[in-house]
Amino acid sequence: MTTTKPILLSPPHMSGREQQFVEEAFRTNWIAPLGPNVDGFEREMCAFLGQAHGQPFHACATSSGTAAIHLGLSLLGVGTGDLVLCSSFTFVASANPIRQLGAEPVFLDSDETSWNLSPAALRRALENLASEGRRPRALVAVDLYGQGCDYGAIEAICDEWDLPILEDAAESLGASVHGRRCGTFGRLAAFSFNGNKIITTSGGGMLVSTDAKLVERARFLATQARETAPHYEHVTAGFNYRMSNLCAGVGRGQLEVLADRVARRRAIFARYASIFAGRPGIRMMPEPTWSRGTHWLSAMTIDPSNAACSRDTLLSSLAAEGIESRPTWKPMHLQPLFAGCRMFAHDPSRLPVCERLFAQGLCLPSGSSMDDADLSRVISCCERQLNGTRTATAVPSYHAS
Ligand SMILES: *Cc1c(COP(=O)(O)O)cnc(C)c1O
Repeated sequence: MTTTKPILLSPPHMSGREQQFVEEAFRTNWIAPLGPNVDGFEREMCAFLGQAHGQPFHACATSSGTAAIHLGLSLLGVGTGDLVLCSSFTFVASANPIRQLGAEPVFLDSDETSWNLSPAALRRALENLASEGRRPRALVAVDLYGQGCDYGAIEAICDEWDLPILEDAAESLGASVHGRRCGTFGRLAAFSFNGNKIITTSGGGMLVSTDAKLVERARFLATQARETAPHYEHVTAGFNYRMSNLCAGVGRGQLEVLADRVARRRAIFARYASIFAGRPGIRMMPEPTWSRGTHWLSAMTIDPSNAACSRDTLLSSLAAEGIESRPTWKPMHLQPLFAGCRMFAHDPSRLPVCERLFAQGLCLPSGSSMDDADLSRVISCCERQLNGTRTATAVPSYHAS
């Protein structure tokens, strides 16, 4: 019996340096939310982001990316009865905080060129809502799978309508658009350091902005909104959303190797793209000329009318060989959770782009720790399916080591 090591979609990839930051926290007994690693991690992230419009960044490290989005929307004043525009093709954490603040999401389709928020859908949503006398409070623009949105077009529309952007850059640390880093486009932006992201703190997130006052307010709200008084005095309902000093130590070690992680994920995507090039019905996620993505996940579509196998067949044959792959995100407007919410399509006369991307999309193993032998295993399994020559192999057993 052969035993085969499972290949996961996007497992954590430590550098070794993380442990030194964590040990320092133990040595000094900073086993707390907040502490020198949190301050250091925020400083280092701000340095990485650089400046936007000549302004330096400020950051508030949080317990998760979802917490950063929740805080960010609160800071933009989102509340009961408001409408908030949001990319439909995303993970549920982009939209949950909208509802949790008592507001209603209005979902926007993707475009074909970036798989991200369609500027055409955004404009039509704003015009339609305006004709009904409604004005959304904010836009949650999601940078998907390590690629930023078309911010050239989106920022212009949002400026025209005076609509603040919360950039959900949870999946796109290290990517850039027109040479500007993801996380620098919104009034506020949220990052995630969950275990599956390009770098991790085991669990964590960060809210960033060039607006020092907003970030100061974020820190206040994230630490139970304690007023300055010797006793515990509260005027506002806050959150307990700050990052622990231990987690931030992991993050500092990870941030040092971000460039390597980006390079490896891009190389993995390039290898898939070169092998699958020219195969009927197969398309890798496009990268527009204005985008430099990280390819956090290597995503592709398989058109069943053309390809030798369907997305689901490929997914299950990979699974049978201990290889994890996942369908692309199920659009939020198709989720039972958001039944009845409105959605504006890229082209109202056609099937929404994100519905096709969900029906045909697959994310392949993309972890930066995957070696070339693992990658070859994934590719040969894909090739067997895509060539249409099904070899009758027994399902191998494997250990989760
Ligand atoms: C991971 C993710 C989040 C949430 O981040 P957590 O740290 O897991 O809370 C939000 N939005 C998107 C698009 C994500 O992929």
